[in-house]
Amino acid sequence: MHRMTGRFAPSPTGPLHGGSLVAAMASWLDVRAHGGRWLLRIEDIDRPREVRGAAEGIVATLAALGFRWNGPVVRQSGRNDLYQRAFDVLRRAGSVYPCGCTRQEIHDAASAGDGGASAAIYPGTCRDGLPPGRAARAWRLRVAPGEVVFDDRAAGMIREDTFSEVGDFIVRRADGYWAYQLAVVVDDADQGVTDVVRGADLLGSTARQRVLQDALGLPRPRTLHVPLVVDASGAKLGKSTAAQPLEPSRPMDALKAAARHLELEVPAITSLDDFWESATVAWAKRWRLDATGR
Ligand code: GLU
Repeated sequence: MHRMTGRFAPSPTGPLHGGSLVAAMASWLDVRAHGGRWLLRIEDIDRPREVRGAAEGIVATLAALGFRWNGPVVRQSGRNDLYQRAFDVLRRAGSVYPCGCTRQEIHDAASAGDGGASAAIYPGTCRDGLPPGRAARAWRLRVAPGEVVFDDRAAGMIREDTFSEVGDFIVRRADGYWAYQLAVVVDDADQGVTDVVRGADLLGSTARQRVLQDALGLPRPRTLHVPLVVDASGAKLGKSTAAQPLEPSRPMDALKAAARHLELEVPAITSLDDFWESATVAWAKRWRLDATGR
C-alpha cells in the first residue's frame, strides 16, 4: 500500500489568489484528515505563460499561511527527461502521431463544439498520416472510442466518451512544450500521488488524464473537484482574470474566506495552528471521513 499522497500543483502565471487558495486548502486538509503526505509542485511547463517571480511568491504565501509540505518543491521545468521518456513509450507503441493542422483548420472542420470554451473536437485529419506537404506541428494521442468512467468524490459518477467528445488530444504542443495533460499524469504517478483534490475547472480534463494513465500503464488517483470561486459576474476567479492577490497582512481573513467557500465551519480562531486544526476536523466531517479515511 502506498501512503495517501496529495499535492497542490499551481501554474506560476500569477500570485496565489482566493481561488487557488481554495484548491490548496482543500488538498491539504484532505491530506491532514487522512494522515498522508502533501507535495508542492510548480507547474512551470508553459513557459510563455509564466510570470517571473510568481513561483517564489506562491511558495512564500503558502508558507506564511501555515501550509507545510513534504520534501522539496518540485518544478516541472526540471523534469523534461521524465516527460520525454513517457512520450517515447507512447511513440514506440504507435499511440501518438504528428499532426499538421492549425487551430483554425480544426475549428473550421469541427462539425460541433462541446459547448464549452475549450477547443473544438479534433476531427482526426492526420490520424492516418500527415497530408502531403504538411509538416508536423503538435503530437496527438490516438484515443479509442468508448466511455471513460470515474467516480469523483464530489461530482459523483462521470462518464465521457473522450473519442467523440474531445477527439485525439495534444500531448506535445506545436511550440515544442509538453502539454499539461501529459506532464500532470507523469508527475502524479512519479510522485506517488494517490489523491488529486483541485478546482472543478479541471474536472473536464480528468477523463483525458484517465486515457493517458491507461495508455502509459499508470495508476489512476482518486479525484475530488471542489467548486470554483467565481466573481460577481459568475466568471472563474482565475489567474487570467483580474483576481486580486491575497492580502499578506491579513492571512486569517483569506483562510476563513476559503474555508467558508469549502463549507467548513471554523470557530473564531486566534492562531494559524488552531485554524488548521479546526479546519481539518471540519473537512473530515464535511466529507464524512471515518478513521480509515474513506
Ligand atoms: N497547474 C494547474 C493549474 O494551476 C493545476 C493542475 C492540477 O491540479 O492538476 O490550474
